[in-house]
Amino acid sequence: TRQWRLASRPTGEPTEENFELVTVDRPEPGPGEVLVRTLYLSVDPYMRGRMRDAESYAEPWGLDEPMQAGVVGEVVESNHDGFEPGDVATGNLLWADHAVAHGEELRQVDPDLAPVSTALGVLGMPGITAYFGMTDVADPDPGDTVVVSGAAGAVGSVAGQVASMAGARVVGVAGSDEKCDWLTEDLGFDAAVNYKTTDDLEAAFAETCPDGVDRYFDNVGGPVTDAVWGQLNRDARVAVCGQISQYNATEQPTGPRKLAQLIQTRATVRGFLVGDYQDRWGHALERLGGFIQAGDLRYEESVVEGLENAPDAFLGLFEGENIGKQLVQVGER
Ligand code: NDP
Repeated sequence: TRQWRLASRPTGEPTEENFELVTVDRPEPGPGEVLVRTLYLSVDPYMRGRMRDAESYAEPWGLDEPMQAGVVGEVVESNHDGFEPGDVATGNLLWADHAVAHGEELRQVDPDLAPVSTALGVLGMPGITAYFGMTDVADPDPGDTVVVSGAAGAVGSVAGQVASMAGARVVGVAGSDEKCDWLTEDLGFDAAVNYKTTDDLEAAFAETCPDGVDRYFDNVGGPVTDAVWGQLNRDARVAVCGQISQYNATEQPTGPRKLAQLIQTRATVRGFLVGDYQDRWGHALERLGGFIQAGDLRYEESVVEGLENAPDAFLGLFEGENIGKQLVQVGER
């Protein structure tokens, strides 16, 4: 069986050289453990932090050690009462064809409810992040203007639609016209800004948010965020979900450049982690599942085929190659 290992730690942009594909014996499940054959594995921006040798909320990956990932897979062997061969399960496993985990660390996926891949996207960690980040942290009122950056990604696309359902006017920020069209034509965003082709971002937000910005759900940081902060309204709230524009930075950026804006607006800026909501994940999944069934929540997945292409899929996140959730398909049911 094959697994990816971290071969070296990147400086700046990671490259293929940082990863090594090795062939190892298929692992044997111990007492209470389950052997899972990977169907889909998730590549996520936060993994960039795990390539670094620094303390963070996610532990660094060890050099020459297998790398973890959210996986949906088929149970091959089980020494745990909760699972039997043929079940579909999800959990934190490996960038690999097979992996073992304790049954307590896995969750059953019902293949009749939705395509199993959604357990890594809209009905998984990114969807839950969007749900709590929008309903609990940003928490818009009807009629508010909400800006979402990284809006065509896994988290942002769900966050924007959750804001729409709360009665907000939603403006998305994304890196291509195709993505912007998807947001406004398919997902019901009220407007979208292509930050890569817009010279004057401040002017673009002034135009698309004529009543100012009441809530900002930030996935990216950097120049996009500077420009949105310039339009914040009195008592605005900023939910800091991610800062992907900074993840490959080799120098500490000069810190938020628009702090004076907070005095003027009495705005609140709050970061959050999806893990803080662990005991309410079930609630979020029920709500998100209900929205999909009602036709109020749409989602997209970008699927790269083959475990051998997993690093490519990961690196593509920093180039904006994905629309919606980026997955790697490793096996079939
Ligand atoms: P996405 O699906 O949004 O993929 C990343 C996207 O980021 C790309 O498609 C690209 O889209 C955009 N991007 C890449 N580089 C830049 C840049 N320099 N400036 C602006 N945009 C850029 O990933 P996720 O939805 O999984 O994650 C989104 C954010 O949420 C990340 O920052 C992630 O770290 C964070 N996150 C936080 C969690 C938490 O608990 N706080 C949990 C999960 C995710 P484009 O074409 O638009 O540039």
